[in-house]
Amino acid sequence: MVRPFEYEWTDDIATALAEAGADASAAYLAGGTTQLDLMKDGVLRPSRLIDISRLPLHEIERRGENLFVGSLTTMEELAAHPVVAQHLPFVREALLRSASVQLRNMATIGGNLLQRTRCRYFRDDTVAQCNKRAPGTGCAAITGFHRTSAVLGTSENCIATHASDLAVALIAMDAVVHVSHVDGSRTIPLTRFYRTPSDTPHLENALRPGELITAVEVPLLPVGARSDYLKVRDRMSYEFALASAAVAVVLDGDVIHSARVALGGVATVPWRALEAEQVLTGATARTEVFQAAAQAALAGAEPRPLNGFKVPLAQRTLVRTLQTVTGVSS
Ligand SMILES: Cc1cc2nc3c(=O)[nH]c(=O)nc-3n(C[C@H](O)[C@H](O)[C@H](O)COP(=O)(O)OP(=O)(O)OC[C@H]3O[C@@H](n4cnc5c(N)ncnc54)[C@H](O)[C@@H]3O)c2cc1C
Ligand code: SF4
Repeated sequence: MVRPFEYEWTDDIATALAEAGADASAAYLAGGTTQLDLMKDGVLRPSRLIDISRLPLHEIERRGENLFVGSLTTMEELAAHPVVAQHLPFVREALLRSASVQLRNMATIGGNLLQRTRCRYFRDDTVAQCNKRAPGTGCAAITGFHRTSAVLGTSENCIATHASDLAVALIAMDAVVHVSHVDGSRTIPLTRFYRTPSDTPHLENALRPGELITAVEVPLLPVGARSDYLKVRDRMSYEFALASAAVAVVLDGDVIHSARVALGGVATVPWRALEAEQVLTGATARTEVFQAAAQAALAGAEPRPLNGFKVPLAQRTLVRTLQTVTGVSS
């Protein structure tokens, strides 16, 4: 089916914001690795595509103890940056465990944070029931195939997982998103950027129509911190997470001085596991403590018949990651 749309590009941020602000059905195009797929499948039908790939938002710059990353930085560029390798190694791991090198060379950081769910019903517009794609129609996954769906942050209206690996590591680091609108600019902590589905699954984040992500600012890990990102999936590469864990700890001898924990593949949004952090902080690093933290992280899980396996899988993934970063093996 032919679905006409207008295409335009600009290298001027103010022009992009003005164009998007004036047309509620316009969409930005960055690397295009998600946007174009969903348009070809008829899931997204913007009247206009504003190509932002030439905007001057490609910088990666250390600013004191933060890393400032322009939103059009590609995933591969960020993974290759020496400050990321040295001070945010688990962010690098999350990037390198994502997609394929070809995709990472096109895909941008801003686009990665805004990628849509891989729920098969969302991506198939011949399926009538999908509250995220067509509000008020129901949720085909709840009664249908939901092996890969979420167990945390779900509602009776949507159980789709958030697919980004990068966002899981960034949310553990309390990253901040810089956004601009034709009316002005603001910053949003990533911990408040995503919305769980509740009764409005089609509203996924805090962005207003026409708002542009210009950068992501990531605090660097302190000297001596240890971190890891473990991703468990059905095959070793080119696959989304069934469960993943992003962990960073600072040890004082065998005591966990501070811990940052987030989970992926199991929740409707990148999931900061504050309950696990509370169990870990101040405790001696040992496997029983890690198991208690994993129990706490999944305490609110609401599994369904086909995805109940994700609860113990996510717990084991977190325990394994904690063992890796602390060097405690049993
Ligand atoms: C086969 C395949 C496998 C994949 N595997 C993984 C994986 O394992 N892990 C993972 O994390 N991801 C994975 N991805 C997703 C991939 O990382 C995203 O498609 C990519 O990061 C999106 O970036 P993009 O620049 O191409 O965005 P686009 O497709 O250009 O845009 C995506 C969305 O974001 C909006 N947008 C883009 N940039 C901005 C901005 N600066 N401000 C406001 N809105 C913006 C667009 O309007 C669009 O709605 C996979 C994708 C594919 C196709
Ligand atoms: S889980 Fe969400 S995205 Fe999937 S069919 Fe249900 S409403 Fe749609």
